[in-house]
Amino acid sequence: MIVPAAGGAGAALEAHVYRVRLRNRFRGLDVRDGVLVRGPAGWGEFSPFWDYDVAESRRWWASAHEAAVLGWPDPVRGTVPVNVTVPAVGPERAHEIVAASGCRTAKVKVADPGQAAADDLARVEAVRDALGPAGAIRVDANAAWDVDTAADRLTALDRFDLEYAEQPVATVEELAALRRRVDVRIAADEVVRRAPDPRRVDLREAADVVVLKVQPLGGVRAALEVAEAHGLPCVVSSALESSVGIAAGVALAAALPELPFACGLATVALFTADVASEPLLPVDGALPVTRPVPDRLAQTAADAETERRWRERLSAVQAP
Ligand SMILES: [Mg+2]
Repeated sequence: MIVPAAGGAGAALEAHVYRVRLRNRFRGLDVRDGVLVRGPAGWGEFSPFWDYDVAESRRWWASAHEAAVLGWPDPVRGTVPVNVTVPAVGPERAHEIVAASGCRTAKVKVADPGQAAADDLARVEAVRDALGPAGAIRVDANAAWDVDTAADRLTALDRFDLEYAEQPVATVEELAALRRRVDVRIAADEVVRRAPDPRRVDLREAADVVVLKVQPLGGVRAALEVAEAHGLPCVVSSALESSVGIAAGVALAAALPELPFACGLATVALFTADVASEPLLPVDGALPVTRPVPDRLAQTAADAETERRWRERLSAVQAP
């Protein structure tokens, strides 16, 4: 498929729709799909989740367009430390995932629908056991808790020594209220990336860390502006992309002036297949700053109906 250039400017871009299965259900998903576009600067990924509307998806397109047409700022480091991501699985599986990863930091999903407090505790305990005392554990509740529940749960989970808690509650006001009540650092994710202007969210009382995701923020340059606006330590995380989209996250992490925490960019490991025969997977807990070539487009190609739906989304985000 060929994507016409927006507004008639520049060259048309070659586009391929991929679709791969996940090893474990994650973010309510069993499969991940998206579009890879190729331009003069290389490959970009456009893969807003299906619950994102056209307005919100425009930033995701800006990110793909930047990758394919403009390229990225120069890196200031050659590797990016990453965390292993542990979905809402049982403790034995959680232990296995962490032990197999080679990472010294783990991000553990908590507060998943249908999971009790005891399930989260058992999972985090297993992860601490697999990492040993020197490893770092962060949890992500994806805004699922109210302030009282979050205060209780985080205090209990902090028995296993949490590095930070990502978006435990939904709003800026709730994050600030919670932050006054717990000793755990608070990281802002959804509250930043889903804001109309992510640079203008007032995080001063609400967060210790900002999570940056390239596609939802509109590209590497836009994300660097968000980092600068908040002046807080930043963690770059993926939006569960293929190796092509992950490369944009790596470019952002490599361009940030400071990178005090491991990044959430090792998520290609959650896929059963990737678009590249040399996927962006961590070696000894870090990713190299490279751009993998998607040479497995045929093996990961989507069915015709999925491709039709993505063509519609592409036209919608490019419409003026
Ligand atoms: Mg998150």
